[in-house]
Amino acid sequence: MVCDLDKKVLDKLREIVGDDNVLVGNDINEEYAHDESLVIKGCLPEVVVKPGSVEEVSSILRLANERCIPVTPRGGGTGLCGGCVAHMGGILLSLERMNKIVEIDDENHVAVVEAGVMLSDLYKAADERGLSYPVYPGEETATVGGNIATNAGGMMAVKYGVTRHFVLGLEAVLPTGEVITTGGKYVKASSGYDLTQLLVGSEGTLAVITKVILKLVPCSKARTTLFAAFKSLANGVKAVPAILKSGKTPLIIEFLDKVGLEGMERYTGIKVPISQFARSEAEAFILIVLEGENQTEVQEDAEVVCDVCMKNGAIDVFIPSTGRAEKELLELREKSFYAARDAGATYLVDVVVPRSMIPKFMEQVKEISERYMTTISGAGHTGDGNIHLAIIEQDANKLSAIVKEIYSIGKILGGTISAEHGIGLEKREIFLQMEDKAKIELMRRIKKAFDPNNILNPGKIF
Ligand SMILES: Cc1cc2nc3c(=O)[nH]c(=O)nc-3n(C[C@H](O)[C@H](O)[C@H](O)COP(=O)(O)OP(=O)(O)OC[C@H]3O[C@@H](n4cnc5c(N)ncnc54)[C@H](O)[C@@H]3O)c2cc1C
Repeated sequence: MVCDLDKKVLDKLREIVGDDNVLVGNDINEEYAHDESLVIKGCLPEVVVKPGSVEEVSSILRLANERCIPVTPRGGGTGLCGGCVAHMGGILLSLERMNKIVEIDDENHVAVVEAGVMLSDLYKAADERGLSYPVYPGEETATVGGNIATNAGGMMAVKYGVTRHFVLGLEAVLPTGEVITTGGKYVKASSGYDLTQLLVGSEGTLAVITKVILKLVPCSKARTTLFAAFKSLANGVKAVPAILKSGKTPLIIEFLDKVGLEGMERYTGIKVPISQFARSEAEAFILIVLEGENQTEVQEDAEVVCDVCMKNGAIDVFIPSTGRAEKELLELREKSFYAARDAGATYLVDVVVPRSMIPKFMEQVKEISERYMTTISGAGHTGDGNIHLAIIEQDANKLSAIVKEIYSIGKILGGTISAEHGIGLEKREIFLQMEDKAKIELMRRIKKAFDPNNILNPGKIF
Protein backbone atom coordinates (compact mmCIF):
# COMPACT_ATOMS: atom_id res chain seq x y z
CA MET A 1 0.00 0.00 0.00
CA VAL A 2 1.23 3.51 -0.81
CA CYS A 3 1.60 5.53 2.34
CA ASP A 4 -0.74 8.52 2.37
CA LEU A 5 0.71 9.96 5.56
CA ASP A 6 3.02 12.79 4.62
CA LYS A 7 6.76 12.66 5.23
CA LYS A 8 6.55 15.26 7.98
CA VAL A 9 4.24 13.03 10.03
CA LEU A 10 6.44 9.96 9.51
CA ASP A 11 9.54 11.96 10.52
CA LYS A 12 7.77 13.18 13.63
CA LEU A 13 6.73 9.60 14.52
CA ARG A 14 10.37 8.47 14.07
CA GLU A 15 11.46 11.29 16.35
CA ILE A 16 9.01 10.09 19.03
CA VAL A 17 9.70 6.32 19.03
CA GLY A 18 12.97 5.94 17.08
CA ASP A 19 13.50 4.81 13.46
CA ASP A 20 13.34 1.07 14.24
CA ASN A 21 9.87 1.40 15.71
CA VAL A 22 8.16 2.94 12.71
CA LEU A 23 7.39 0.45 9.94
CA VAL A 24 6.15 1.35 6.47
CA GLY A 25 5.80 -0.38 3.08
CA ASN A 26 7.45 -3.78 2.71
CA ASP A 27 8.70 -3.67 6.29
CA ILE A 28 5.15 -4.22 7.52
CA ASN A 29 4.57 -7.89 8.30
CA GLU A 30 1.29 -9.31 6.99
CA GLU A 31 0.41 -10.29 10.60
CA TYR A 32 -0.38 -6.63 11.31
CA ALA A 33 -3.11 -6.69 8.66
CA HIS A 34 -5.60 -8.87 10.51
CA ASP A 35 -6.81 -10.49 13.70
CA GLU A 36 -8.43 -13.95 13.95
CA SER A 37 -11.91 -12.96 12.77
CA LEU A 38 -13.36 -15.43 10.26
CA VAL A 39 -15.27 -12.63 8.56
CA ILE A 40 -13.20 -9.42 8.42
CA LYS A 41 -10.71 -9.30 5.58
CA GLY A 42 -7.16 -8.16 6.35
CA CYS A 43 -5.96 -4.67 5.53
CA LEU A 44 -2.29 -3.64 5.69
CA PRO A 45 -1.84 -0.52 7.84
CA GLU A 46 -0.20 2.58 6.36
CA VAL A 47 2.27 2.70 9.23
CA VAL A 48 2.95 0.56 12.28
CA VAL A 49 4.22 2.50 15.29
CA LYS A 50 5.61 0.72 18.35
CA PRO A 51 5.83 3.01 21.38
CA GLY A 52 7.94 2.01 24.40
CA SER A 53 6.43 4.26 27.08
CA VAL A 54 3.30 6.12 28.12
CA GLU A 55 5.02 9.41 27.16
CA GLU A 56 5.55 8.11 23.63
CA VAL A 57 1.91 6.98 23.37
CA SER A 58 0.85 10.43 24.53
CA SER A 59 3.04 12.23 21.93
CA ILE A 60 1.74 9.97 19.13
CA LEU A 61 -1.90 10.64 20.06
CA ARG A 62 -1.29 14.39 20.37
CA LEU A 63 0.18 14.41 16.87
CA ALA A 64 -2.61 12.22 15.44
CA ASN A 65 -5.27 14.36 17.08
CA GLU A 66 -3.81 17.60 15.67
CA ARG A 67 -3.78 16.10 12.16
CA CYS A 68 -6.96 13.99 12.49
CA ILE A 69 -5.07 10.76 11.71
CA PRO A 70 -6.87 7.50 12.63
CA VAL A 71 -5.10 5.41 15.30
CA THR A 72 -5.89 1.71 15.80
CA PRO A 73 -4.54 0.14 19.01
CA ARG A 74 -3.28 -3.44 18.69
CA GLY A 75 -2.30 -5.99 21.33
CA GLY A 76 -1.70 -9.62 20.35
CA GLY A 77 -4.01 -9.55 17.31
CA THR A 78 -5.96 -12.57 18.63
CA GLY A 79 -9.31 -10.75 18.66
CA LEU A 80 -12.23 -12.35 16.84
CA CYS A 81 -14.15 -9.35 15.47
CA GLY A 82 -11.67 -7.25 13.46
CA GLY A 83 -11.20 -4.77 16.34
CA CYS A 84 -7.49 -4.16 15.71
CA VAL A 85 -7.72 -3.98 11.91
CA ALA A 86 -6.68 -0.51 10.67
CA HIS A 87 -9.43 -0.37 8.06
CA MET A 88 -9.47 3.46 7.94
CA GLY A 89 -5.72 3.74 7.30
CA GLY A 90 -3.52 5.89 9.52
CA ILE A 91 -1.45 4.53 12.42
CA LEU A 92 -1.54 0.98 13.75
CA LEU A 93 -0.36 1.46 17.33
CA SER A 94 1.20 -1.80 18.47
CA LEU A 95 1.69 -2.13 22.24
CA GLU A 96 4.11 -5.06 21.81
CA ARG A 97 7.12 -3.22 23.30
CA MET A 98 5.20 -2.23 26.43
CA ASN A 99 5.49 -5.71 27.90
CA LYS A 100 6.99 -5.22 31.36
CA ILE A 101 5.65 -6.91 34.45
CA VAL A 102 6.17 -3.98 36.77
CA GLU A 103 5.29 -5.72 40.03
CA ILE A 104 3.68 -8.81 41.54
CA ASP A 105 2.61 -7.53 44.94
CA ASP A 106 1.91 -10.60 47.06
CA GLU A 107 0.83 -8.60 50.11
CA ASN A 108 -2.02 -6.88 48.29
CA HIS A 109 -2.56 -9.74 45.81
CA VAL A 110 -2.18 -7.51 42.77
CA ALA A 111 -0.13 -7.41 39.59
CA VAL A 112 0.95 -4.15 37.99
CA VAL A 113 1.75 -4.72 34.32
CA GLU A 114 2.16 -2.81 31.09
CA ALA A 115 -0.68 -3.31 28.61
CA GLY A 116 1.39 -5.27 26.08
CA VAL A 117 2.18 -8.10 28.54
CA MET A 118 1.05 -11.46 27.15
CA LEU A 119 -1.25 -13.60 29.28
CA SER A 120 1.27 -16.48 29.28
CA ASP A 121 3.89 -14.19 30.91
CA LEU A 122 1.41 -12.88 33.48
CA TYR A 123 0.30 -16.42 34.44
CA LYS A 124 3.93 -17.48 34.88
CA ALA A 125 4.96 -14.44 36.94
CA ALA A 126 1.94 -14.76 39.25
CA ASP A 127 2.42 -18.52 39.65
CA GLU A 128 6.04 -18.02 40.73
CA ARG A 129 4.67 -16.04 43.69
CA GLY A 130 1.94 -18.58 44.56
CA LEU A 131 -0.76 -16.41 42.97
CA SER A 132 -3.01 -16.80 39.99
CA TYR A 133 -4.77 -14.56 37.46
CA PRO A 134 -7.87 -16.70 36.85
CA VAL A 135 -9.13 -15.12 33.63
CA TYR A 136 -8.46 -17.75 30.99
CA PRO A 137 -9.58 -16.88 27.46
CA GLY A 138 -7.60 -19.83 26.12
CA GLU A 139 -5.33 -17.88 23.75
CA GLU A 140 -2.29 -17.03 25.85
CA THR A 141 -0.64 -14.79 23.25
CA ALA A 142 -3.42 -12.25 23.84
CA THR A 143 -2.26 -9.19 25.78
CA VAL A 144 -3.64 -7.80 29.01
CA GLY A 145 -4.53 -4.54 27.19
CA GLY A 146 -6.48 -6.45 24.52
CA ASN A 147 -8.24 -8.49 27.20
CA ILE A 148 -9.32 -5.33 28.99
CA ALA A 149 -10.41 -3.64 25.77
CA THR A 150 -12.65 -6.62 24.93
CA ASN A 151 -13.57 -7.56 28.51
CA ALA A 152 -12.38 -11.08 27.73
CA GLY A 153 -14.06 -13.97 29.51
CA GLY A 154 -13.02 -17.53 28.85
CA MET A 155 -13.35 -20.85 30.56
CA MET A 156 -13.02 -19.88 34.22
CA ALA A 157 -15.70 -17.17 34.13
CA VAL A 158 -18.21 -19.59 35.65
CA LYS A 159 -16.28 -19.46 38.93
CA TYR A 160 -14.28 -16.23 38.86
CA GLY A 161 -16.04 -13.87 36.47
CA VAL A 162 -14.50 -12.01 33.53
CA THR A 163 -11.69 -9.49 33.02
CA ARG A 164 -13.75 -6.59 34.39
CA HIS A 165 -13.91 -8.30 37.80
CA PHE A 166 -10.11 -8.26 38.06
CA VAL A 167 -9.23 -4.75 36.86
CA LEU A 168 -8.57 -2.50 39.87
CA GLY A 169 -6.98 0.42 38.08
CA LEU A 170 -5.60 1.70 34.81
CA GLU A 171 -3.18 4.14 33.25
CA ALA A 172 -4.56 5.25 29.90
CA VAL A 173 -3.93 7.89 27.26
CA LEU A 174 -6.89 9.82 25.91
CA PRO A 175 -7.11 10.54 22.15
CA THR A 176 -6.09 14.13 22.95
CA GLY A 177 -2.83 12.86 24.47
CA GLU A 178 -3.77 13.48 28.12
CA VAL A 179 -2.72 10.71 30.51
CA ILE A 180 -5.16 9.55 33.20
CA THR A 181 -4.83 7.05 36.03
CA THR A 182 -7.87 5.38 37.54
CA GLY A 183 -8.40 3.17 40.60
CA GLY A 184 -5.52 1.68 42.56
CA LYS A 185 -4.43 -1.33 44.63
CA TYR A 186 -7.75 -1.47 46.44
CA VAL A 187 -11.12 -3.13 45.87
CA LYS A 188 -13.36 -0.32 47.11
CA ALA A 189 -13.85 3.08 45.47
CA SER A 190 -16.73 5.49 45.49
CA SER A 191 -15.14 8.64 44.16
CA GLY A 192 -16.98 9.90 41.10
CA TYR A 193 -17.72 8.03 37.89
CA ASP A 194 -16.02 4.64 37.57
CA LEU A 195 -13.75 5.36 34.60
CA THR A 196 -11.90 2.08 35.05
CA GLN A 197 -15.02 0.10 34.27
CA LEU A 198 -16.03 2.44 31.44
CA LEU A 199 -12.73 1.71 29.69
CA VAL A 200 -13.09 -2.06 30.20
CA GLY A 201 -14.77 -3.38 27.06
CA SER A 202 -14.43 -0.09 25.16
CA GLU A 203 -12.55 -1.87 22.33
CA GLY A 204 -9.85 0.76 21.96
CA THR A 205 -12.36 3.47 21.02
CA LEU A 206 -12.05 5.68 24.13
CA ALA A 207 -8.41 5.51 25.25
CA VAL A 208 -5.18 3.57 24.81
CA ILE A 209 -4.56 1.50 27.93
CA THR A 210 -0.88 1.57 28.87
CA LYS A 211 -0.67 0.13 32.40
CA VAL A 212 -2.95 -2.03 34.51
CA ILE A 213 -3.48 -3.01 38.14
CA LEU A 214 -5.00 -6.49 38.32
CA LYS A 215 -6.40 -8.48 41.24
CA LEU A 216 -4.82 -11.90 41.80
CA VAL A 217 -6.02 -14.88 43.84
CA PRO A 218 -4.07 -17.60 45.68
CA CYS A 219 -3.23 -20.62 43.49
CA SER A 220 -5.51 -23.60 43.99
CA LYS A 221 -3.80 -26.58 45.62
CA ALA A 222 -5.62 -29.45 43.90
CA ARG A 223 -7.60 -30.03 40.74
CA THR A 224 -9.48 -32.80 39.06
CA THR A 225 -11.12 -33.17 35.66
CA LEU A 226 -14.21 -35.02 34.42
CA PHE A 227 -15.42 -35.60 30.89
CA ALA A 228 -19.10 -36.59 30.70
CA ALA A 229 -20.82 -37.99 27.61
CA PHE A 230 -24.59 -37.49 27.15
CA LYS A 231 -26.92 -39.27 24.76
CA SER A 232 -28.72 -36.11 23.71
CA LEU A 233 -27.87 -32.43 23.37
CA ALA A 234 -30.81 -31.62 25.64
CA ASN A 235 -29.48 -33.85 28.44
CA GLY A 236 -26.01 -32.37 28.12
CA VAL A 237 -27.09 -28.76 28.41
CA LYS A 238 -29.65 -29.49 31.12
CA ALA A 239 -26.97 -31.10 33.30
CA VAL A 240 -25.13 -27.77 33.63
CA PRO A 241 -27.63 -25.93 35.86
CA ALA A 242 -28.01 -29.16 37.85
CA ILE A 243 -24.25 -29.28 38.50
CA LEU A 244 -24.24 -25.67 39.65
CA LYS A 245 -27.27 -26.29 41.87
CA SER A 246 -25.42 -29.11 43.61
CA GLY A 247 -23.42 -26.49 45.54
CA LYS A 248 -20.15 -27.34 43.80
CA THR A 249 -18.94 -24.51 41.57
CA PRO A 250 -16.51 -25.94 39.05
CA LEU A 251 -13.61 -23.88 37.80
CA ILE A 252 -14.56 -24.85 34.24
CA ILE A 253 -17.73 -26.25 32.65
CA GLU A 254 -17.36 -26.45 28.87
CA PHE A 255 -19.81 -27.92 26.41
CA LEU A 256 -18.87 -29.72 23.19
CA ASP A 257 -21.18 -31.35 20.69
CA LYS A 258 -20.34 -34.49 18.70
CA VAL A 259 -19.32 -32.64 15.51
CA GLY A 260 -17.20 -30.25 17.57
CA LEU A 261 -15.46 -33.03 19.52
CA GLU A 262 -14.66 -35.01 16.38
CA GLY A 263 -13.25 -31.88 14.73
CA MET A 264 -11.07 -31.11 17.76
CA GLU A 265 -9.81 -34.69 17.92
CA ARG A 266 -8.93 -34.58 14.22
CA TYR A 267 -7.19 -31.21 14.55
CA THR A 268 -5.16 -31.99 17.69
CA GLY A 269 -4.59 -35.72 17.24
CA ILE A 270 -5.79 -36.16 20.85
CA LYS A 271 -8.33 -38.97 21.31
CA VAL A 272 -10.58 -38.76 24.37
CA PRO A 273 -10.64 -42.27 25.92
CA ILE A 274 -14.42 -42.54 26.36
CA SER A 275 -16.04 -45.93 25.91
CA GLN A 276 -16.90 -47.20 22.44
CA PHE A 277 -20.56 -47.14 23.45
CA ALA A 278 -20.36 -43.43 24.40
CA ARG A 279 -18.48 -42.65 21.22
CA SER A 280 -21.20 -44.10 19.03
CA GLU A 281 -24.23 -43.03 21.10
CA ALA A 282 -23.36 -39.66 22.66
CA GLU A 283 -24.42 -36.36 21.08
CA ALA A 284 -23.02 -33.97 23.70
CA PHE A 285 -20.08 -33.78 26.10
CA ILE A 286 -19.21 -31.67 29.12
CA LEU A 287 -15.69 -31.00 30.33
CA ILE A 288 -15.62 -30.14 34.04
CA VAL A 289 -12.63 -29.02 36.12
CA LEU A 290 -12.90 -28.78 39.91
CA GLU A 291 -10.39 -27.12 42.21
CA GLY A 292 -9.98 -27.24 45.98
CA GLU A 293 -7.71 -27.23 48.99
CA ASN A 294 -6.53 -30.84 48.64
CA GLN A 295 -6.95 -33.99 46.56
CA THR A 296 -9.44 -35.58 48.96
CA GLU A 297 -11.71 -32.55 48.74
CA VAL A 298 -11.70 -32.44 44.93
CA GLN A 299 -12.25 -36.20 44.70
CA GLU A 300 -15.31 -35.90 46.95
CA ASP A 301 -16.62 -33.01 44.83
CA ALA A 302 -15.95 -35.03 41.67
CA GLU A 303 -18.13 -37.86 43.02
CA VAL A 304 -21.00 -35.44 43.64
CA VAL A 305 -20.68 -33.93 40.14
CA CYS A 306 -20.38 -37.37 38.54
CA ASP A 307 -23.56 -38.43 40.32
CA VAL A 308 -25.41 -35.31 39.08
CA CYS A 309 -24.27 -36.03 35.51
CA MET A 310 -25.49 -39.65 35.69
CA LYS A 311 -28.85 -38.54 37.13
CA ASN A 312 -29.17 -36.09 34.22
CA GLY A 313 -28.68 -38.59 31.44
CA ALA A 314 -24.90 -39.08 31.18
CA ILE A 315 -24.00 -42.41 29.61
CA ASP A 316 -20.32 -42.29 30.55
CA VAL A 317 -18.09 -40.13 32.74
CA PHE A 318 -14.37 -40.36 32.11
CA ILE A 319 -12.03 -39.21 34.91
CA PRO A 320 -8.42 -39.02 33.71
CA SER A 321 -5.95 -40.56 36.11
CA THR A 322 -2.84 -38.66 35.03
CA GLY A 323 -1.98 -34.97 34.88
CA ARG A 324 -1.04 -35.42 31.22
CA ALA A 325 -4.47 -36.79 30.31
CA GLU A 326 -6.10 -33.85 32.14
CA LYS A 327 -3.92 -31.37 30.25
CA GLU A 328 -4.82 -33.01 26.94
CA LEU A 329 -8.54 -32.58 27.58
CA LEU A 330 -8.03 -28.88 28.22
CA GLU A 331 -5.77 -28.54 25.20
CA LEU A 332 -8.42 -30.20 23.06
CA ARG A 333 -11.00 -27.62 24.15
CA GLU A 334 -8.56 -24.72 23.78
CA LYS A 335 -8.02 -25.62 20.14
CA SER A 336 -11.74 -25.62 19.32
CA PHE A 337 -11.52 -22.36 17.38
CA TYR A 338 -8.65 -23.53 15.19
CA ALA A 339 -10.34 -26.94 14.71
CA ALA A 340 -13.55 -25.22 13.57
CA ARG A 341 -11.61 -22.94 11.21
CA ASP A 342 -9.74 -25.96 9.85
CA ALA A 343 -13.07 -27.70 9.24
CA GLY A 344 -14.25 -24.75 7.12
CA ALA A 345 -16.20 -22.62 9.63
CA THR A 346 -17.23 -19.31 8.07
CA TYR A 347 -18.76 -17.61 11.14
CA LEU A 348 -18.34 -17.87 14.90
CA VAL A 349 -21.31 -16.88 17.08
CA ASP A 350 -20.57 -15.54 20.59
CA VAL A 351 -24.13 -15.13 21.90
CA VAL A 352 -24.79 -15.31 25.63
CA VAL A 353 -28.15 -16.15 27.19
CA PRO A 354 -29.18 -16.70 30.82
CA ARG A 355 -27.80 -20.11 31.76
CA SER A 356 -31.31 -21.51 32.26
CA MET A 357 -32.14 -20.68 28.62
CA ILE A 358 -29.32 -22.70 27.07
CA PRO A 359 -31.47 -25.83 26.48
CA LYS A 360 -34.09 -23.72 24.62
CA PHE A 361 -31.40 -21.83 22.72
CA MET A 362 -29.68 -25.01 21.57
CA GLU A 363 -33.00 -26.63 20.62
CA GLN A 364 -33.77 -23.69 18.33
CA VAL A 365 -30.26 -23.66 16.88
CA LYS A 366 -30.70 -27.35 16.03
CA GLU A 367 -33.96 -26.54 14.26
CA ILE A 368 -32.25 -23.75 12.24
CA SER A 369 -29.38 -26.06 11.35
CA GLU A 370 -31.82 -28.70 10.03
CA ARG A 371 -34.04 -26.18 8.22
CA TYR A 372 -31.12 -24.57 6.38
CA MET A 373 -29.28 -27.91 6.03
CA THR A 374 -26.15 -26.24 7.39
CA THR A 375 -23.62 -27.58 9.87
CA ILE A 376 -23.70 -25.59 13.10
CA SER A 377 -21.44 -27.01 15.76
CA GLY A 378 -21.40 -25.85 19.36
CA ALA A 379 -18.55 -25.64 21.85
CA GLY A 380 -18.40 -23.17 24.62
CA HIS A 381 -18.68 -21.84 28.06
CA THR A 382 -22.03 -23.35 29.03
CA GLY A 383 -21.34 -22.68 32.70
CA ASP A 384 -21.88 -18.96 32.08
CA GLY A 385 -24.48 -19.13 29.30
CA ASN A 386 -22.03 -18.45 26.46
CA ILE A 387 -22.01 -21.02 23.67
CA HIS A 388 -19.81 -20.50 20.64
CA LEU A 389 -21.43 -21.79 17.48
CA ALA A 390 -19.23 -22.48 14.47
CA ILE A 391 -21.28 -22.21 11.27
CA ILE A 392 -20.05 -23.88 8.10
CA GLU A 393 -21.92 -22.17 5.25
CA GLN A 394 -20.41 -20.83 2.02
CA ASP A 395 -23.57 -19.18 0.65
CA ALA A 396 -23.32 -15.59 1.94
CA ASN A 397 -27.09 -14.90 1.83
CA LYS A 398 -27.93 -18.09 3.65
CA LEU A 399 -25.20 -17.43 6.22
CA SER A 400 -26.49 -13.92 6.85
CA ALA A 401 -30.06 -15.22 7.34
CA ILE A 402 -28.89 -17.95 9.75
CA VAL A 403 -26.79 -15.53 11.79
CA LYS A 404 -29.66 -13.05 12.06
CA GLU A 405 -32.05 -15.76 13.26
CA ILE A 406 -29.58 -16.93 15.90
CA TYR A 407 -29.01 -13.39 17.22
CA SER A 408 -32.77 -12.83 17.36
CA ILE A 409 -33.31 -16.01 19.34
CA GLY A 410 -30.53 -14.98 21.72
CA LYS A 411 -32.19 -11.62 22.26
CA ILE A 412 -35.69 -13.11 22.74
CA LEU A 413 -34.29 -15.49 25.35
CA GLY A 414 -32.87 -12.53 27.31
CA GLY A 415 -29.31 -12.60 26.00
CA THR A 416 -27.01 -10.37 23.97
CA ILE A 417 -25.01 -10.68 20.76
CA SER A 418 -21.51 -10.79 22.17
CA ALA A 419 -20.45 -12.28 25.47
CA GLU A 420 -16.70 -11.80 25.25
CA HIS A 421 -15.34 -11.17 21.76
CA GLY A 422 -16.75 -7.65 21.33
CA ILE A 423 -18.42 -5.88 18.44
CA GLY A 424 -15.44 -4.54 16.47
CA LEU A 425 -16.15 -4.40 12.75
CA GLU A 426 -17.69 -7.83 12.44
CA LYS A 427 -20.82 -7.31 14.51
CA ARG A 428 -21.24 -3.57 14.03
CA GLU A 429 -24.18 -3.83 11.65
CA ILE A 430 -26.11 -6.33 13.76
CA PHE A 431 -25.30 -4.35 16.93
CA LEU A 432 -26.75 -1.17 15.41
CA GLN A 433 -29.84 -3.07 14.26
CA MET A 434 -30.56 -4.85 17.51
CA GLU A 435 -29.38 -2.54 20.27
CA ASP A 436 -31.62 0.06 21.88
CA LYS A 437 -31.30 3.35 19.91
CA ALA A 438 -31.18 5.54 23.02
CA LYS A 439 -28.29 3.49 24.39
CA ILE A 440 -26.36 3.78 21.12
CA GLU A 441 -26.86 7.55 21.11
CA LEU A 442 -25.55 7.77 24.67
CA MET A 443 -22.52 5.67 23.67
CA ARG A 444 -21.89 8.04 20.75
CA ARG A 445 -21.99 11.02 23.14
CA ILE A 446 -19.53 9.29 25.48
CA LYS A 447 -17.26 8.59 22.49
CA LYS A 448 -17.41 12.27 21.49
CA ALA A 449 -16.50 13.42 25.00
CA PHE A 450 -13.37 11.24 24.96
CA ASP A 451 -12.49 11.60 21.29
CA PRO A 452 -13.86 14.83 19.76
CA ASN A 453 -12.03 14.27 16.45
CA ASN A 454 -12.97 10.58 16.20
CA ILE A 455 -9.38 9.46 15.68
CA LEU A 456 -9.25 6.43 18.01
CA ASN A 457 -10.28 3.15 16.40
CA PRO A 458 -12.90 4.91 14.24
CA GLY A 459 -15.66 2.75 12.77
CA LYS A 460 -15.45 0.11 15.50
CA ILE A 461 -18.62 -0.73 17.53
CA PHE A 462 -20.60 1.97 15.66
C1 LIG B 1 -8.03 -19.57 19.74
C2 LIG B 1 -8.69 -18.41 20.38
C3 LIG B 1 -9.45 -18.60 21.51
C4 LIG B 1 -10.06 -17.52 22.12
N1 LIG B 1 -10.82 -17.75 23.22
C5 LIG B 1 -11.39 -16.71 23.84
C6 LIG B 1 -12.17 -16.93 25.01
O1 LIG B 1 -12.37 -18.06 25.45
N2 LIG B 1 -12.70 -15.84 25.62
C7 LIG B 1 -12.49 -14.58 25.16
O2 LIG B 1 -12.97 -13.63 25.78
N3 LIG B 1 -11.79 -14.35 24.04
C8 LIG B 1 -11.24 -15.38 23.38
N4 LIG B 1 -10.53 -15.16 22.23
C9 LIG B 1 -10.44 -13.79 21.69
C10 LIG B 1 -9.20 -12.99 22.07
O3 LIG B 1 -8.20 -13.76 22.64
C11 LIG B 1 -9.57 -11.86 22.96
O4 LIG B 1 -10.45 -11.00 22.28
C12 LIG B 1 -8.38 -11.04 23.50
O5 LIG B 1 -8.90 -10.29 24.57
C13 LIG B 1 -7.75 -10.10 22.50
O6 LIG B 1 -6.50 -9.65 23.00
P1 LIG B 1 -5.38 -9.15 22.01
O7 LIG B 1 -4.24 -8.63 22.81
O8 LIG B 1 -5.04 -10.17 21.02
O9 LIG B 1 -6.13 -7.92 21.35
P2 LIG B 1 -6.23 -7.46 19.83
O10 LIG B 1 -6.85 -8.52 19.00
O11 LIG B 1 -4.92 -6.95 19.40
O12 LIG B 1 -7.25 -6.25 19.98
C14 LIG B 1 -8.56 -6.47 20.42
C15 LIG B 1 -9.24 -5.11 20.67
O13 LIG B 1 -8.60 -4.45 21.75
C16 LIG B 1 -8.10 -3.17 21.36
N5 LIG B 1 -6.84 -3.01 22.09
C17 LIG B 1 -5.78 -3.85 22.14
N6 LIG B 1 -4.84 -3.38 22.98
C18 LIG B 1 -5.33 -2.21 23.48
C19 LIG B 1 -4.82 -1.24 24.41
N7 LIG B 1 -3.64 -1.39 25.00
N8 LIG B 1 -5.59 -0.15 24.67
C20 LIG B 1 -6.80 0.02 24.08
N9 LIG B 1 -7.33 -0.87 23.21
C21 LIG B 1 -6.59 -1.97 22.92
C22 LIG B 1 -7.94 -3.27 19.85
O14 LIG B 1 -8.04 -2.00 19.25
C23 LIG B 1 -9.13 -4.15 19.50
O15 LIG B 1 -10.31 -3.40 19.43
C24 LIG B 1 -9.90 -16.21 21.60
C25 LIG B 1 -9.13 -16.03 20.46
C26 LIG B 1 -8.54 -17.09 19.84
C27 LIG B 1 -7.71 -16.85 18.61
